[in-house]
Amino acid sequence: MRINSPKQAALYSAFIIGIVSGCLTGAFSSSNDLWWAYGVISLVIAFVVSYFLVFYLIERFLYGKIKLIYKNILNLKTQKDQDIKINMSTDVLGTVSAEVETWADVKTREIKQLKDQEAFRREFIGNLSHELKTPIFSIQGYILTLLEGGLDDPTVNKEFLMRAAKGVDRMTHIIEDLDMINKFESGNIPLDIRKYNIVDLAKEIIDSVEYKASDRNVELTIKRNEDRPIYVMMDRQRIGQVLTNLVNNAINYSKEEGGSIELRFYRMDNALLIEVADNGIGMSEEHLPRLFERFYRVDRSRSRNAGGTGLGLAIVKHIVEAHGQTINVRSTKDIGSTFSFTLELAK
Ligand code: ADP
Repeated sequence: MRINSPKQAALYSAFIIGIVSGCLTGAFSSSNDLWWAYGVISLVIAFVVSYFLVFYLIERFLYGKIKLIYKNILNLKTQKDQDIKINMSTDVLGTVSAEVETWADVKTREIKQLKDQEAFRREFIGNLSHELKTPIFSIQGYILTLLEGGLDDPTVNKEFLMRAAKGVDRMTHIIEDLDMINKFESGNIPLDIRKYNIVDLAKEIIDSVEYKASDRNVELTIKRNEDRPIYVMMDRQRIGQVLTNLVNNAINYSKEEGGSIELRFYRMDNALLIEVADNGIGMSEEHLPRLFERFYRVDRSRSRNAGGTGLGLAIVKHIVEAHGQTINVRSTKDIGSTFSFTLELAK
C-alpha cells in the first residue's frame, strides 16, 4: 500500500480504527437489538475523530521536520535565508526527496568539476616548474663556471654568456606565452577585427619562414583554385601568429626527407576554411583531444630541441576562438597532420 500524503495516512488509520471500534462496540452490545446501530455510530465517530487527530499529529510532526530540510536546501541553493510554505495535502515527502536528489546531483557535479580543476591546476604547476627548471639550471651552470674562473678565460667567457642569455630568452618566451594565454582567458586582449586579404598574409608568413623551411628541406606552397584575393574578417596580427605557429610546427615536425607543407583555402557558406597540411611525423589519435592544452606534447624531447614551449597550439586555439571560430586537427602517425580553422568571409 502506497501512502502519498498525511491526508491519506490519516484516512487509512481512521478507517482501521473506525472498523475496530465499530466491531468492538457491536460485539459488546450484542445483547441489545440495536447492536448494529451502536456499531455503526461508533465506527463513524471513531473514524471522524481519529481522522482529524491523526492528520493533525502527523502534520505537526512532519511539517516541522520537512520545513527545516526544505528550508536548508532552498537556502543553500539560493544563498539567502527565506521563509517557505508547504502544502501538506500534496505528496510532500515525494517532493522533498526529489528536491534532495536533484540537489545532490548538482552538488556531485560541482564537486567533480572542482576536483578536475584541482587536478588541472596541480598538473599545470608541475608542468610549469618543469619547463622553467631546464633553462634555470643551464643559466646557473654557465654563471657558476664563469665565476669559478671561466670569466678570465677568453676562449669560453663570451660563449658561456651567450648560452646563459639563450636560457634567459627561453624563460622569457615561456612567460610571455603564458601571459598571453592568461590575457585571452580573462578576455583582456582586444581584437582589431577588420576586412583583410588572407592570401596576402599567408604569402607574408611563407616568406618569413622560407629560410627555416629550406634549411630543413621542406617545400612550402599555397594551394588555390582561384587567383582572386580572399577577404576575411580578422585581427591581422593575431591570425598571422596562428599561421606562423602552425607552419612552424609543420616544419619542426617534418620528416627528414621530402617534407612538404600546403596552405589551402576553401570557401564555405559564410566562412573560409583554412588548412595547414603537412606530410610530417604525424601522431596517433589518442593525442588529438589534448593537443591544444597548455604544455601538452607528443614527443617532449623533439619539441624542446625545436625550441617549442608547448604553448603554441594553446595560443592558436585561443586566438581562433576569440574570433568566434573553431580549430580542428586530423593526423595519422608517420603520414602527416592537417590543422584547419575557419574565419568569417567578409561581405
Ligand atoms: P610545441 O612548442 O611543443 O611545438 P605546440 O603547442 O605548438 O607546442 O604543439 C604541441 C605538440 O603537438 C607538439 O609538442 C607536437 O608533439 C605536436 N604537434 C604540433 N603540430 C604538429 C605537427 N604539425 N605534426 C606533428 N605533431 C605536431
